[in-house]
Amino acid sequence: MYKEYKPNMAPFKNPMPEQEPLVRAHNFKEVAEGYTAEMAMDEAKRCLGCPTKPCVAHCPVNINIPDFIHEVALGNFEKAYEIISQSSALPAVCGRVCPQETQCEGKCTRGIGVDPKTKQPKEPVAIGRLERFVADYHNAHSKPEDIVRPESNGHKVAVIGSGPSGLTCAGDLAKKGYDVTIFEALHLAGGVLVYGIPEFRLPKSIVQKEVDNLKALGVKVETNMVIGRVITIDELLAEYHFEAVFIGSGAGLPRFLGIPGENLNGVYSANEFLTRTNLMKAYLADSNTPIQKAKNVAVVGGGNVAMDAARSALRLGAEHVYIIYRRSLEELPARKEEVHHAMQEGVDFQLLNNPVEIIGDENNNVKAMKVEVMKLGEPDASGRRKPISTGEFKEIEVDCVICSIGTSPNPLLRQTTKGLETNPHGCIITKTEGGLTTRDHVYAGGDAVTGAATVILAMGAGKHAAKAIDEEIMGAN
Ligand code: FAD
Ligand code: SF4
Repeated sequence: MYKEYKPNMAPFKNPMPEQEPLVRAHNFKEVAEGYTAEMAMDEAKRCLGCPTKPCVAHCPVNINIPDFIHEVALGNFEKAYEIISQSSALPAVCGRVCPQETQCEGKCTRGIGVDPKTKQPKEPVAIGRLERFVADYHNAHSKPEDIVRPESNGHKVAVIGSGPSGLTCAGDLAKKGYDVTIFEALHLAGGVLVYGIPEFRLPKSIVQKEVDNLKALGVKVETNMVIGRVITIDELLAEYHFEAVFIGSGAGLPRFLGIPGENLNGVYSANEFLTRTNLMKAYLADSNTPIQKAKNVAVVGGGNVAMDAARSALRLGAEHVYIIYRRSLEELPARKEEVHHAMQEGVDFQLLNNPVEIIGDENNNVKAMKVEVMKLGEPDASGRRKPISTGEFKEIEVDCVICSIGTSPNPLLRQTTKGLETNPHGCIITKTEGGLTTRDHVYAGGDAVTGAATVILAMGAGKHAAKAIDEEIMGAN
């Protein structure tokens, strides 16, 4: 327990100021507005500074949580930022999108038990909200010009992909003096952070600031460079003299349902729909990006991506948006907060419904989706109760279907790099904790290795790879 102030023993978190659900359902501005300094300091005083630090053990990058929160309680926000940035390269991103409820906050001592007054479960310290506050404070009070470029160590490393794994790997190596070039296939750096996660959850200016900070450290960012097409990995090593390559190319290849009607007009993968909306800014009135302005939309799937697609469809003007999911609310894999937000905004959850056909009109436009009503059986290999057919079918009238049932890594790099082995799911095989692949000097991490996962795990992989690359290059010199 800290001695400098009286702890705040309130059983619940300081609520997050948010836009009203019915207002925000029609705009792309950020939903959560962030704590004020007063709210952050008050919330920070709920932390008990537990000697066993259960929260730290459950943070995938082991941020020293009680220490940074203690500095917030004292009003030392820059000091808090320094502590976080020893472990995390993207705190403004992670504070917004990490699944804290199953990680640090899931193990917080303050979340144990029931409040006797309200009979509600007590809430953990709002670690994610405090992380976001600290990062936003720092970003508002710093400029890329303040960053001191480290002295060059004369070694060159290439990074493929500018998602959280690539950005982290590049940042860690640049801080050690490496000459790092990121090659990104799209026209803008940031990976899923810019093309997938919508503006209303993660403003793009935040990602841009992180990219600008990397550039200030000396990292070069080459966009519109599809490695495997424009240059191969072998050429990067042999002709361009990079001493190591890190692959952080993600898992952007969408899966489809494999049911009749998937080729009809009005069927999208969630990746295409979100890329058009976010990266290509289809939501702006003056945008040239074509996107269907649908009236009734069915989003198939129950993960974070499905919630993002559904909430984006609402904001683009759809009158009715359904989530079609074949299990129940309990098995829904999306973050609870995202599900809660989607429900508040009016998304209609059609649970225990399995799509069997997309029905078109005479012009091959989607007009309905046929679903089978399911019931739950015994748990399957994933531990979740298995959906079982009931033989009962129904039709839902929709003019747009968005498939959000998962993605896998794009096969391009495997196909164009001899000896780069992948598993049957197309994920790159790594042999060490540092992410060494089956090719010498080639490392990989993030979704390209694990399949679709989380920002923080991708960042962790980028960090481990940077360390391993540094050890390899320095060991050889
Ligand atoms: P990515 O972020 O996928 O970046 C890979 C980059 O590599 C891309 O920019 C791609 O264009 C580029 N690339 C691919 N191939 C090549 C090539 N051949 N040459 C050059 N560049 C190439 N995670 C959370 O923790 N919380 C969330 O709330 C959350 N929400 C999500 C919402 C959506 C819509 C999506 C799609 C994902 C979400 N995730 C979330 C998952 C998370 O974003 C990913 O796990 C994470 O971004 C993976 O990082 P990465 O660096 O491995 O790859
Ligand atoms: Fe603070 Fe909760 Fe971590 Fe304990 S578990 S140190 S109360 S954040």
